[in-house]
Amino acid sequence: MRPVYLDHNATTPLSPGVAAAMSPYLGGQYGNPLTAHRFGEGPRAAIDEARCSVRTLLGATDDSRVLFNSGATEGLNHALKGLALASLSDGRVGARRRIVIGGLEHYAVSAPAQWLADAFGFELVRVAPGRDGVIPADAFIDAVAADTTLVAALHWANNELGTLQPVEEIGRHCREIGVPFVCDAVQAIGKVDTQDACAFADVIALSAHKFYGPKGAGALVVRAGIDLVPLLHGASQESGQRGGTHNVAGIVGLGAAAIAAHAGRRQESPRVAALRDALADGIRGRIDRVHWNGGRAAVLPNTLNLSFEGCPSAALCAEMDRRGFAISAGAACDSGTAKPSKNVLAMGLSEGRALTSVRISLGHDTTAIDIQATQAAFAEAVSAVRADN
Ligand code: PLP
Repeated sequence: MRPVYLDHNATTPLSPGVAAAMSPYLGGQYGNPLTAHRFGEGPRAAIDEARCSVRTLLGATDDSRVLFNSGATEGLNHALKGLALASLSDGRVGARRRIVIGGLEHYAVSAPAQWLADAFGFELVRVAPGRDGVIPADAFIDAVAADTTLVAALHWANNELGTLQPVEEIGRHCREIGVPFVCDAVQAIGKVDTQDACAFADVIALSAHKFYGPKGAGALVVRAGIDLVPLLHGASQESGQRGGTHNVAGIVGLGAAAIAAHAGRRQESPRVAALRDALADGIRGRIDRVHWNGGRAAVLPNTLNLSFEGCPSAALCAEMDRRGFAISAGAACDSGTAKPSKNVLAMGLSEGRALTSVRISLGHDTTAIDIQATQAAFAEAVSAVRADN
């Protein structure tokens, strides 16, 4: 049997259609898009088209900027540091010194926010989630004050739990009071409806490899009127906001993946959600002492985070891997560590629950046959790990 990949929140395979769209830009269309001669024309037009595709995906107006970059880690660093550095006066932090973030943010948000606090003295406020893995909108809104808050940042969907965050309510409030709202949309793209995102978020970050595009390509969408200091000073690419020769094939791939995500979501999300629910029911029917972390909240259609009592996550992932099933213990960047899941702990759940949680994330290539096989594999793997403990 072919291996079954159930780790789509870590990364997705490149779709064949996206690879085909990229192919000319890895071959004959090699010109630098900034050059005036004919070799630059095709790549330049392709980049313009990709910008339109990203705008369509997020409902961005023509006056907003779509800045291509290497992915969301760069984009989110650019958003937070760019806003913070733009606010300094004579190198000093001003009255608006508070950075408000959710308590379940990816390191791509929490690490630059912490760095800004440590290096410059910005005040960092993290709003704790509830036991359902959702940041309460009222607590977040209470932490954001117009006269003192420089920026608020919240992810749309959690990478590990799949829980959906109240980004629209919070974003609209922030816009009303004039506080820039940064949304990490990495896990939401192609899974939930994002076409009104720019109506409530001022800065939006995404990574192509999370929605069947290439690795190393991302975009930051910035509403008109929001000023960011560039992270990469260099030549005039991306209106001087991100120097460095364009990754043309990557950008074209991102654009093609954006179009496909936009067009395919309505059909794909219910299909994957039905498979995910069948998997959850099948596992809970066969195996006792299983808990769905965050399962009572609204979650991404493809994501299941389960704790199996008596099964350390790393041991269970290894048993599943031996049987040909790729799942993960927490996020990809934490996976392989024997540490408890920081997200499950942040929800206020026990250390035991956090040490035994695994993430199963389905994707376009997941079939009903895979789901049946996965249930059987879990039953065997859990017995094996429990017998060893
Ligand atoms: N934000 C979230 C929610 C993520 O899941 C990830 C990656 O897993 C990132 C940000 C960072 O994305 P990248 O590693 O593509 O830069």
